[in-house]
Amino acid sequence: MFGGPRPGELMVEADVPDETPEGITFLDLVESAEEKRVEQARGLLGKGSSPYNQLREKLGTLLSLVDRLGSCWWGCSGGDHTVEYAVAASGGNTFAALRLLRAGYYDEALGLARQIGERANLLQLFMFNSQSLREWSDSGTEARQKKFSAFNIRIELEKLGIPPIIQRDYYHYLSGFGIHPGRIPQSFGDKLPPSVGGLFRLRGLTIVLHELAYVISMVGGTGAVLLSDDERIPADRIVGAAMDLLDDQRKLSKVIDEWISKDPVQGSARPQT
Ligand SMILES: [Zn+2]
Repeated sequence: MFGGPRPGELMVEADVPDETPEGITFLDLVESAEEKRVEQARGLLGKGSSPYNQLREKLGTLLSLVDRLGSCWWGCSGGDHTVEYAVAASGGNTFAALRLLRAGYYDEALGLARQIGERANLLQLFMFNSQSLREWSDSGTEARQKKFSAFNIRIELEKLGIPPIIQRDYYHYLSGFGIHPGRIPQSFGDKLPPSVGGLFRLRGLTIVLHELAYVISMVGGTGAVLLSDDERIPADRIVGAAMDLLDDQRKLSKVIDEWISKDPVQGSARPQT
């Protein structure tokens, strides 16, 4: 854990006069700092030889398919759209997370990855237990929230002998990045002080891309299988695109494993995905 002085203390120590703006001027300052980080991310991600580009190519294809799957693009399969809504919401979360990623808000993007992961588990339960999809549709909001809490979904999957897409220790791992109240914000083991707002961090960017690729692949793949009775939907192509993305995601896993194995806090928490 980083035990050094906080950024504000460093500024005071260096005799930096407190000319911090307030009101709208402060909001404008935040926005212009975000724009600078977006430029940095663009410079790195846009390079032809960047290891991220192939993954982004595949992520873009899967997201395009997910966007169409979630919006009944190939024709409406009818029903109450439980699966389509989960797919569409996950696509939206991923777009938003990519935007946060570019602005350097890595913890915040991981919070969205976690939400997508919870939907992946729900769709996985629907896939292995079609009765659960009917129960979901028949339940009122309160009963649904109780029966289909993230915890209960994992328990139901485990009862079926199916390892959940997102396991309990995975939540623990993501929580280690400052999603939970009380955790250190934006700390990615760089031996740099944790920061309050966004700072451009290569590790943060890599970890977020890695987690997003994993969870959206799972949502896209399970969503396509669940809707595959409708022959107009190119389910095989969507599952193929998800698996293709997972291939590249695993390449990033090796890089991250290397970093995290050297970090005493996160190294012990990272599960294998
Ligand atoms: Zn529809």
